[in-house]
This record gives sequence, structure tokens and C-alpha cells, in this order.
Amino acid sequence: MTRSPSFPDTGAMTASTLDLHREFYAEADRFGRVYPRVLDVALVVEPQHFLKDPSYRDLGWYDPKDHTIHLVDRLRQFSPSHRLGIIRHELGHAADDDLGAPGSELRADYLAEKARGQPILYDGDDVQNVSVGVRRPYYLGG
Ligand SMILES: [Zn+2]
Repeated sequence: MTRSPSFPDTGAMTASTLDLHREFYAEADRFGRVYPRVLDVALVVEPQHFLKDPSYRDLGWYDPKDHTIHLVDRLRQFSPSHRLGIIRHELGHAADDDLGAPGSELRADYLAEKARGQPILYDGDDVQNVSVGVRRPYYLGG
């Protein structure tokens, strides 16, 4: 299967911050029809990743302490398919009843697929999306 890079097109695809919010809450609403606990999850758009040395693929995370999903602003430059893949993966974490247990990364993808009927895929840069690549590679850990 072809695994294309995360920037398949030009900057013309860049979403506004408002677009990102709209996409997130529309998706949380659909996801919430299957997993109601994600209906009240809140989005925080971070200007940059707060890790000292974030990897290229560090674009979002779920914080169970205050039930928030954080998306890094540069996600706006990714394709709609990548934004959706990241959003759904993080919603999968938010829907997880057993978040601290081993296998949470695979479970996030599984819950996202159950909620939305489409697998989370990983492209050639190991970034989640819904159109190109493979299911979570083993080397990323579960
Ligand atoms: Zn994850």
C-alpha cells in the first residue's frame, strides 16, 4: 500500500483556527452519538507543542485531568484527512474507559473506527489520517 507524506498538497489547504474548531466539534458531536462521554470534551489549540523536543508527528493529545483535547496549531497545515485522523484518534482516547491500561494507542484507533466506521491510518511519516497508509505500525507501540 502506498504511504504518501503528510503534506500532499500546497499551503492552499491550510485551515483557519476557526475551521479547526468547527471540524473538531462537528466530529466530537458525531463521535458522541456512539460514545456520549466525548460530547463535553473541550478543544484547546496550542500555539506550539510544550514538549521540549516534540517529534514531527506530535500534533495532539488528550488530557484526562480536565477532559480536554489539545491540538497543535501546525495541524492546520495538514490535509483535511490528516486533521480528521488526528481528531478521531484523540477522541478515541477521550472515549476510553480504561485510559491508563496498556494498549491505549491501539484502543484509541479501535474506538475511533467503531464510532466512525473508518480505520485510522498512518502515512509515511506515521501521522494519523483517514485516507492513506496502514493501520498503526507495531514500532509505534500500542
Ligand atoms: Zn494517542
